[in-house]
Amino acid sequence: MDIKTYPWQAELLASLNALRDRLPNGILLYGPRGIGTFEAACAFAASLLCTSPAPDGRPCGHCKGCRLFAADNHPDIRYIVSEFECVSHGMEFAMPETNPDKKTLTREILINQTRDLGEYFSLKSNEGGVRVVIVYPADKIRSEAAASLLKNLEEPPENTIFILVADEIDRVLATIRSRCRLIRAKAPAKEQALAWLRSQGVKNAEQKLTEAAGMPLSALAEDPRYAMSEEGKRKILAVLAKGAQATAADALNAVDKDMTIAAAALVFSRWAWDLASVRAGAGARYFPSYEAELKHAAESASSAGLYQWINSVRDVRRAAEHTLNAKAIIEAVLLSYARCLAKA
Ligand SMILES: [Zn+2]
Repeated sequence: MDIKTYPWQAELLASLNALRDRLPNGILLYGPRGIGTFEAACAFAASLLCTSPAPDGRPCGHCKGCRLFAADNHPDIRYIVSEFECVSHGMEFAMPETNPDKKTLTREILINQTRDLGEYFSLKSNEGGVRVVIVYPADKIRSEAAASLLKNLEEPPENTIFILVADEIDRVLATIRSRCRLIRAKAPAKEQALAWLRSQGVKNAEQKLTEAAGMPLSALAEDPRYAMSEEGKRKILAVLAKGAQATAADALNAVDKDMTIAAAALVFSRWAWDLASVRAGAGARYFPSYEAELKHAAESASSAGLYQWINSVRDVRRAAEHTLNAKAIIEAVLLSYARCLAKA
């Protein structure tokens, strides 16, 4: 998990950091959607799992805790995050065993996501420190899942903190709310939001921010750099579908010169998500018409190779803002996919 914090969160992060010496069992962070409250919760979790954070709580980035966190491999953190939010935040989602063919992403937290908490808590924390459970969105928890979560909040295991995040505090069950320390995340002032959007290269930032009701991350998500024409998407998918047979010429012809990395990366990460899903025996969610090709790729590629490719997509997404030669980079990702299948 990448640690992302935003310039308007200084006060919020400071108030979280002030809790670290006497951690409550549960914290409920709430604030309007589109200002990065979930990211702040994850940043705080990273800070708690770091063995030598800076005085302001910033994780050191080098210790074992930090390295495990960055690799999404820390044994002392659990994410109970809806499928929809997992996909929006580029996180892996464990497919529920029920109803794998549905075509829309689930926005609620389901019972199977809270079920193994008991087992998690029955073991000692691996790294000897605090154990963290992040729950998002805490305002959209199915009732059976809420009951199981509540039980854990009522009798919290030692050295464990629940960090709940809600977009709409009024929709959080009163029983859950009353067991948490409430912390409000505030939307940034307009000037701060505009300055940040401009620093991200957003054009017409003022208009976009207004359309997004003042929420900078929503304004960024609406940026046309993330949009791709149907034709452009079809061409990219055709190369991915060719798998190991795809050539440099295929990649060259598939990428239009005005295609942005952000938009291509979205298609790549959805393809990667479908691959993981098909590999796990469930159906393709985003590109069901390519199910046969996905299946073939999932069967023929090595896990390590696919994992490497998925990581490279993530790196490209991260670099999207700083790169000028989008076309070359998108082509390179397409070719590395073909190579990773050819090698297997
Ligand atoms: Zn650290």
